[in-house]
Amino acid sequence: MTRLVVVGSINMDLVTLAQRFPAPGETLLGERFLSVHGGKGGNQAVAAARLGAEVHLVGAVGDDNFAQPLRDALLEEGIHAEHVVHVENCSSGTASITVAGAENSIVVVPGANARLTPGHVARAREVITRADVVLVQMEIPLETVEATLRIGHQAQVPVILNPAPAQALPADWLKLARYITPNQHELATLLGADPAIDFRELMRRSPCPVVVTRGAEGAWFREEGAPVHQSGFKVEAADSTGAGDTFNAALAVYLQEGLPIAVRKACAAAALSVTRLGARGGMPRPAELDALLA
Ligand code: ATP
Repeated sequence: MTRLVVVGSINMDLVTLAQRFPAPGETLLGERFLSVHGGKGGNQAVAAARLGAEVHLVGAVGDDNFAQPLRDALLEEGIHAEHVVHVENCSSGTASITVAGAENSIVVVPGANARLTPGHVARAREVITRADVVLVQMEIPLETVEATLRIGHQAQVPVILNPAPAQALPADWLKLARYITPNQHELATLLGADPAIDFRELMRRSPCPVVVTRGAEGAWFREEGAPVHQSGFKVEAADSTGAGDTFNAALAVYLQEGLPIAVRKACAAAALSVTRLGARGGMPRPAELDALLA
């Protein structure tokens, strides 16, 4: 069983479906409302737990009404939440999403996620040291991402950095990551490069190994210098939300089997995730993954 530590965000997504977007100052009757558990850290932890990993999550919730349900949902998935801290006088992270037809508008309030400090990660040093792999994204403060990379590196535990949402990062930080897993757009942003440059050239310029996700096309990685393409799995796509999170989780869970196998399994798991609605709704169990890979 893979021992995984995820360091990242936990959010409540508040989704309103409406005929159209309200004009500034206007009050509009919506059609439906749902609250959905999200955040890249929480989502990746759930995807990995469903695949059978032992998962510890390092994250933060606030002291509002969302805090306990967010924590409970993680516990129900079998995730170890001792390092999910409750921040006082602070809301949990939220994303207020309005969906009108095929368009959406989103306001994210990081809340407690912005208060996850390097100190919180340092307190989880013992579980990190015992882990097979660490997974971190960028919906938390950058100094906390850096602390995760440094602690993992010192402990000689591979750290996968999912650079989303992307921003340019110092090359010496990137060298601390075992792999980075951007989509094409994120790779250009991360390296501070022109997005028009071919992604294979950007992969070559990266100071650490890259796995680039390319939606339905699958993913690319480098092996012995040459770029290798893993085709996407053909599925009936219903909702691509959470594809990237499922990909990263599966990559981490299967990394010990070698990169080519891990990328193949990550593409398969992510393809299954897009066949059902919601970020967490389609995250597969091992039996479903095995059936697609057979
Ligand atoms: P998101 O932010 O929507 O979660 P992303 O931009 O981080 O996604 P993508 O490159 O869109 O990441 O998708 C991640 C992986 O999911 C891809 O590498 C691919 O393996 C799988 N995937 C995504 N969309 C599809 C699809 N329509 N059919 C099959 N596989 C898909």
